[in-house]
Amino acid sequence: MISSDIIKQKALEYGADLCGIGDVRLYEGSPPQRDPRFIQPKAAAVIGVALRVPRGIYRGILEGTQHYTYTSLGVKALSEEVVGAFLLKMARVIENEGYEACIQRSAPGLRIKDDMDTNPEVTATRRLIHTEPVGPGKPAPEVILDETQSAVICGLGTPGYRGNVLTPEFGPFQRFAFIVTNAPLAPDPVITESLCDQCGACADACPGKAICGSERTLVVGECAFPYGSWDTWQCSVYYRGAHRSNPFMPADFLRDHPEREAILSGEKRFSREEALAIYDRLKFLPNTHYGYVPCLCGKACDTACYAHLERKGLIRKKFAMGFISEPATGGRP
Ligand code: SF4
Ligand code: SF4
Repeated sequence: MISSDIIKQKALEYGADLCGIGDVRLYEGSPPQRDPRFIQPKAAAVIGVALRVPRGIYRGILEGTQHYTYTSLGVKALSEEVVGAFLLKMARVIENEGYEACIQRSAPGLRIKDDMDTNPEVTATRRLIHTEPVGPGKPAPEVILDETQSAVICGLGTPGYRGNVLTPEFGPFQRFAFIVTNAPLAPDPVITESLCDQCGACADACPGKAICGSERTLVVGECAFPYGSWDTWQCSVYYRGAHRSNPFMPADFLRDHPEREAILSGEKRFSREEALAIYDRLKFLPNTHYGYVPCLCGKACDTACYAHLERKGLIRKKFAMGFISEPATGGRP
């Protein structure tokens, strides 16, 4: 007999670090292209899992001496290999009991129709894909769950300032996957108190000033979580290393560019077109498999956030040593 307890026990056994169950009714009012009921019309629950990105993966970045492990293991391996195997095993558990498991991994190569904002993490997202609704009252494919909304609905965490998810266990250091199912699973409560205190440390740390001020709100049931705005095109340029603290940048980088100083200092504001135009000059390291772009901003937003939450005693997973003693600065000298 399937139950929430059995699902959680299996999720942890198969490698998840956190598992929560969300009530699918909490998606009421969501854009259809974000609503799991347009994937499985009989959906009753969404199972959410978090897989931690080991804290030690960020250590070489903080030291300034090693950058490739974050992208290759913290992003690509988790999202493309570990999560895939995990979800397929979970699907067997659910479907052995006679319920469907619509397994949902991250989709960095895809966007919902007309979404011009999503961070183009892999090459395929550079261009919009043409798509039309497949029938009256149906959204255009692909329907893709909103990761932050879904993690909040599953009781795993609350929104950070740039709209990512913070969990009490790991702060911003994890990746997520979901299963939409018609299995009648008891939901977990939503975490009502936001971990994010809007301190701004993440925004200050970003070398591209990609996290800006204007407020958005995520409403889940009775809860409203305010968060800031995140310019993902600006982020994509500085994630790729267009800033002075990138240790792989040659001295003559962009020497012929009229806006070189503004770009290197993070003052330049990139439109979508300008971001796409400069990508070819931001090839400091080879892409990893599946087209993942090497992270050369050091995920300064997340490391600053983690350090802030740890100082406040808000990270449940304890370590023998503190993460950093000073706030991250967006790259080390
Ligand atoms: S620190 Fe990096 S990942 Fe974070 S917002 Fe800035 S460029 Fe993007
Ligand atoms: S550093 Fe963390 S807690 Fe502070 S504003 Fe950013 S997301 Fe919120």
